[in-house]
Amino acid sequence: MKKITAVLLSAAIAFTATACSRVIVPKKADGGNSNENSKTISTSATVPSSETTQPETTVSTTAETTTTTTTTTTTTTTTTQANGAARNLDQFKGKKLIAITFDDGPYTPVTCSLLDRLDKYNARVTFFVLGSRLDGSQSYRETMKRAYEMGNQIASHTYSHSDLTSLSKEALYNDVAKANAAVKNVIGVEPTAIRPPYGAINSTVEAAANKNIIMWSVDSLDWKYRNADTVCSNICNSAFDGAIVLLHDLYQTSVDGAIRAMDILQGKGYAFVTVDELAQLRGVQMNTSTKYFQFKPEN
Ligand SMILES: [Zn+2]
Repeated sequence: MKKITAVLLSAAIAFTATACSRVIVPKKADGGNSNENSKTISTSATVPSSETTQPETTVSTTAETTTTTTTTTTTTTTTTQANGAARNLDQFKGKKLIAITFDDGPYTPVTCSLLDRLDKYNARVTFFVLGSRLDGSQSYRETMKRAYEMGNQIASHTYSHSDLTSLSKEALYNDVAKANAAVKNVIGVEPTAIRPPYGAINSTVEAAANKNIIMWSVDSLDWKYRNADTVCSNICNSAFDGAIVLLHDLYQTSVDGAIRAMDILQGKGYAFVTVDELAQLRGVQMNTSTKYFQFKPEN
């Protein structure tokens, strides 16, 4: 049995260029709108009006101050990663590591703009995708497949972006299963990890999800500022070895800010890995009943 450090904060709340060039015009501009504080998100194939959900942003970098050490005793999920091109992790041993994550995609123009620039930093990221978007757009499916085949991690952000704690048991299980099926339909494997929309989770959701639950420890607040410099600063100012950074691949400013942050952080000795890679490098065998906010090195 492996002892791990986990942050418990349940209370707080290609392919070809073809697909990448197929820009789907959003229903609305990504700019500010009246849905900013709404807990709903569009499940259409076009870009949601806004991810932008207060609950998801209430857990910020302060989360790490509530670190608790726990011993894993529960079910472990398969270690088979939803990752189409496993990397040799030896190259990252002894380095400072960050897992950059993007929620609510895929959104082809923005997601592909990120994918196009990852190699420069030898970076791979984790995408928490919405099943409804995959079912709604061939372009989005192709984009996710490209991300997967590059070695990025594909994880679930549910099907409909509902607050899972508000659903009936039947709707909850249905949503989770539909999301898993939508991902598997494209890449052939189910995701091994999930990030609940708004960070909203309870024991019922935990049981229904039955995946590694990945939260975050650095909130870029990209949805709020939609400014690449601010996104970059928010990441760089809060970055630490083992951090999980929250962004959304809906906004070009999010990707631009993340790339600028990578440029700066790489200069400070950081490398950029997926969540699964980070856990593996830190010797953590994840289980389905712990919420993971970061993977700091063990002392
Ligand atoms: Zn979300």
